[in-house]
Amino acid sequence: MAEPVLGNPQNTIEILKKYNFTFQKKYGQNFLIDTHVLEKIIRAARIQKEDFVLEIGPGIGTMTQYLAQAAGRVAAVEIDRALIPILEDTLSRYGNVRIINEDVLKLDLGRLAEEESGGRPMKVVANLPYYITTPIIMGLFEKHVPIESITVMVQKEVADRMQAAPGTKDYGALSLAVQYYAEPYIAAFVPPNCFMPRPKVGSAVIRLNCHKKPPVLVKDEELLFRIIRASFNQRRKTLANGLSNAPDLAVSKDMIIDSIEKIGKEASVRGETLTLEEFAGLSNYMADYLAE
Ligand code: SAM
Repeated sequence: MAEPVLGNPQNTIEILKKYNFTFQKKYGQNFLIDTHVLEKIIRAARIQKEDFVLEIGPGIGTMTQYLAQAAGRVAAVEIDRALIPILEDTLSRYGNVRIINEDVLKLDLGRLAEEESGGRPMKVVANLPYYITTPIIMGLFEKHVPIESITVMVQKEVADRMQAAPGTKDYGALSLAVQYYAEPYIAAFVPPNCFMPRPKVGSAVIRLNCHKKPPVLVKDEELLFRIIRASFNQRRKTLANGLSNAPDLAVSKDMIIDSIEKIGKEASVRGETLTLEEFAGLSNYMADYLAE
């Protein structure tokens, strides 16, 4: 199979010139031009020959070439129509790549997994467009698409939030949501000069190893996430006040305080100190009250 060539900045510039390509800011286009970073992502993603890989936003196909070499099959989903002829050119020597011109947020990924790998869990790898990082990742989790792991380049601050522990400044609803579905691991920090054009922010590669089943048992997943969002919406308030002010939680303050005490905490506790297990316990007690 052909060797990847686009990690070299000269080759990227040549392709961009050949097709007279102009970067679209609205699509978060920052292409990777560093072979070491590309190799690091492939290593972090632990791609095997039998894997089916979904790449979100292949750009001109730089990382796709590496993925095609390492994996069994690759589907590359790109929203920008102007990039499709370029991808057909740069990936012409890789017979195991399917290029899909679509918005990944609109694509039926369950069906794609079924078509490409008979529903076997896939690996997602991407240098994500930063303007929709959270909707993409939460969409992958919440739609219960069969996924083994997600290895993505994201803004450094977002990676820190995903991996944050209770009581730290970065801990919040995103940390809890990600850690409910997966185990995060930051594999590398990547400076702006590894991209063309350079982003204004630092980046990080994070691997999310998806749990086969959630690490906590909850009676009502949706209620758990409503409680988590309400706790962090009013970060400065105590948990009891934050939850009793939440318009979408129809539980009285007495019941909220009772539930907080049942998980062994005081009514004055702040939400940002609670672990996922404690939020799960709280949501189960509140679910009992709601069922009464
Ligand atoms: N993978 C390439 C690389 O590393 O050089 C490009 C990464 S660039 C940060 C993000 C890519 O995602 C762009 O090619 C952009 O056009 C594409 N993109 C943006 N929004 C998208 C969406 N909703 N669905 C699919 N692709 C999208």
